[in-house]
Amino acid sequence: MNLPGRHKILVVEDEPDIRELVRYNLEQGGFEVIETDDGKQALALIEKERPSLLVLDLMLPNADGLDICKMLRQRPQSAAIPIVMLTAKAAEVDRVLGLELGADDYITKPFSPRELVARVKAVLRRSETAHVEERREVFERGRLRMDFESHEVWLDGSVLSLSLREFELLKFFVRNPNRVFDRLTILDLVWGGDTYVEPRTIDVHVRRLRILVEQDASRPDLIQTVRGVGYKFNIDALDPALAS
Ligand code: CA
Repeated sequence: MNLPGRHKILVVEDEPDIRELVRYNLEQGGFEVIETDDGKQALALIEKERPSLLVLDLMLPNADGLDICKMLRQRPQSAAIPIVMLTAKAAEVDRVLGLELGADDYITKPFSPRELVARVKAVLRRSETAHVEERREVFERGRLRMDFESHEVWLDGSVLSLSLREFELLKFFVRNPNRVFDRLTILDLVWGGDTYVEPRTIDVHVRRLRILVEQDASRPDLIQTVRGVGYKFNIDALDPALAS
């Protein structure tokens, strides 16, 4: 459980000695610590445990830290999670901190445990300040602007008139871009688990939404059909330069 004022930190490191060192020192620093040696498992733990920050080793056996960092940044649920990278390679630092991966800070091995704890605290402080500014519930990118509070939508500068369900579906897509969802999952997440709606209903709503938001509804580039699976929202197609 995440006690108020007590941050939960996820440590992803395959070397047991280092993991133990990090855990011990973070716990001494007042943090609750969960840990894994596996990058893939880290993704599941983030969704389940909702840690406040990730200490992520760059070199992992299954999926390396850079891939994990990239994946986290692409998922709306984890895009904002602060990441402190552990790296033995000073040469990687530019990439680690660059826009491409967006780690918030890094520590090179070997490191002083006190420095690690100090960095973690500093990154948490910074992210809490930034979080307040991100509260405003507006999505804006390229052709599309959505106000989640007032339920207003603009496309290419014009107001779009959407039904509540269409609005919720579009909101789901913009908040979960570039990921493939099957119909049942969409139904569950947008319609809620307790409704009796045929999965085909999604197709009807997608068709209507496409007529409203696609430049060519017969060749959709925003809401893409992934054959045999479901749908994927290709958020890059909102950028006018990339839309074709
Ligand atoms: Ca390692």
